[in-house]
Amino acid sequence: MAQPTREIHLAARPEGEPKPSDFRLVETELPGPGPGELLVRSTWMSVDPYMRGRMNDARSYVEPFRLDAPLEGGAIGEVLASGDERFSPGDVVRHFAGWREHAIVDAGSAEPVETLGAPQRYALGALGMPGLTAYTGLHLAELREGDVVFVSGAAGAVGSMAAQLAKLRGHTVIGSAGSPAKVALLRDELGLDAAFDYHGGRVADLLAAAAPDGIDVYFDNVGGEHLEAAIGAMRLRGRISMCGSIAGYNTPQPGPRNIGLSVGKRLTLRGFIVGDHADLQLPFVREVAPRINDGTIVVRETVVEGLEQAPQALIDMLRGANTGKMLVKLA
Ligand code: NDP
Repeated sequence: MAQPTREIHLAARPEGEPKPSDFRLVETELPGPGPGELLVRSTWMSVDPYMRGRMNDARSYVEPFRLDAPLEGGAIGEVLASGDERFSPGDVVRHFAGWREHAIVDAGSAEPVETLGAPQRYALGALGMPGLTAYTGLHLAELREGDVVFVSGAAGAVGSMAAQLAKLRGHTVIGSAGSPAKVALLRDELGLDAAFDYHGGRVADLLAAAAPDGIDVYFDNVGGEHLEAAIGAMRLRGRISMCGSIAGYNTPQPGPRNIGLSVGKRLTLRGFIVGDHADLQLPFVREVAPRINDGTIVVRETVVEGLEQAPQALIDMLRGANTGKMLVKLA
């Protein structure tokens, strides 16, 4: 039987900041699942910064979104009908056919949701791709005892986890974020040693005030002026986990003018993509889920309701409207 549903399509490639007219809400019908497929009713959908890059007509590490086709992204949902013996109706799965209320999903790409007692939607945030990104970026930074760690975008999905995991490992942690309320969260709830609002002056000056003796590790979610400031503040043999550069996603930013300092300081700047580190998923969930369940790690989310709100959620997230993970509740 055909399944009526709604999808968000990419109507136009944005110039700079995305606009509502770059998206289109489309009503359609899906067939039942074929062999090896699942019909899934999505309940939660993730909104992520990398989606902005996929809206451009340029290949990065993933293909661009197609025009006049549904956008894609992480989601969780309930299996309504299954053409694969590994899944039954009622199972909850994580899949990549977000931006739609129902989807036909290749069973091979669907995963059972396992959050070890934490809410299932955390499989899209603190215990999902963003949390694993934080865990991976710290792992690759090869933290050493006594390291001072600076995290930008520290009130966001990845940053809030990176900052708290670094604190749990005993480090002095400094965070930056885009509002006084986010700074208060970092200091008062997440327990960071120092935090600043990057709108309050030159990032280099704000970082120097927060870390007068310099930093050893920088978890870079932002790029641009933040990256330049971090290179300036780095101590000898410092390490930078190059996670993202959101300051340039709508409008590309120049690279750091002081990159030459990385030679004399013997710095390591290491880019990574979380998808290359699936082997860390199990140790990550086993370590982090209990700390979420006992309240040691604070999870923040910003939730909007309804598929039709998803485009605005992406626009707002890129402007900093979210604290913690930006999610769309679909059902
Ligand atoms: P967030 O939850 O952090 O949301 C994005 C945040 O970026 C906003 O809330 C805003 O917070 C901040 N921001 C927006 N514009 C600027 C700007 N000009 N300068 C500084 N901050 C800005 O998103 P995620 O946690 O999902 O992603 C964080 C970063 O991690 C992104 O760069 C993303 O691309 C990257 N990433 C990389 C992965 C990888 O495999 N390497 C995987 C997943 C994410 P504020 O109010 O503080 O400005």
